[in-house]
Amino acid sequence: MSESQDDSREQIKAERHQQRQQKVKEAVDAKVAEAQEERGVLMVITGNGKGKSTAGFGTVARAVGHGKSAAVVQFIKGGWECGERNLLQKVGVPFVVMNTGFTWDTQDREKDMQACEETWAPAEKMLSNPSIDLVLLDELTYMVAYHYLDLERVITALKNRPPHQHVIITGRSCHRSLIELADTVSEIESVKHAFDAGVKAQVGFDY
Ligand code: ATP
Ligand code: MG
Repeated sequence: MSESQDDSREQIKAERHQQRQQKVKEAVDAKVAEAQEERGVLMVITGNGKGKSTAGFGTVARAVGHGKSAAVVQFIKGGWECGERNLLQKVGVPFVVMNTGFTWDTQDREKDMQACEETWAPAEKMLSNPSIDLVLLDELTYMVAYHYLDLERVITALKNRPPHQHVIITGRSCHRSLIELADTVSEIESVKHAFDAGVKAQVGFDY
């Protein structure tokens, strides 16, 4: 093949690419133009992969970075100090943390139910407070899965929240009713996790 034939083939390829991209751009622009509604979004971040809570906290940081007000409720208090809490409390983000050491291997159901109730009460208040732009309900899914928290109460509070308020729920095994109610649902899949290769949870990365 001559050099000039080569050049014209490259040119045709470039033109076709440009035409395809133009079509993609038109389709995206049309969708962007269509999406005009502004309102609070209910998001669920679930699945077995790592990154649910970090995505929730990332959105809190994003909101605060824009001067919005955010609040966090943590329904599981692990054994570890939470790095995000250390940072976000300094910039005035209120945190409510379940006051027992509720973990996955809980033994005392009565005590945990009581702790859940005490944690849900301030969460419910946040969900009726129009001055809060974003509420992160970290690990809420387990409270519903364990029947510590009545699903209908959660749904009522979410439905009645201020229209502009965003809410993020994280945790595995999310109840299908919450998934149905949510506007945005992301399921994080675990492809691999360092823990399975014997790497321990490390400060500043895992918590
Ligand atoms: P992260 O807080 O890192 O975003 P997560 O919220 O998605 O994780 P959780 O189920 O809340 O996940 O788990 C809390 C802890 O367990 C974290 O320290 C996390 O690193 C670890 N973890 C998360 N996913 C896995 C997994 N697939 N295997 C082992 N450990 C995990
Ligand atoms: Mg989590």
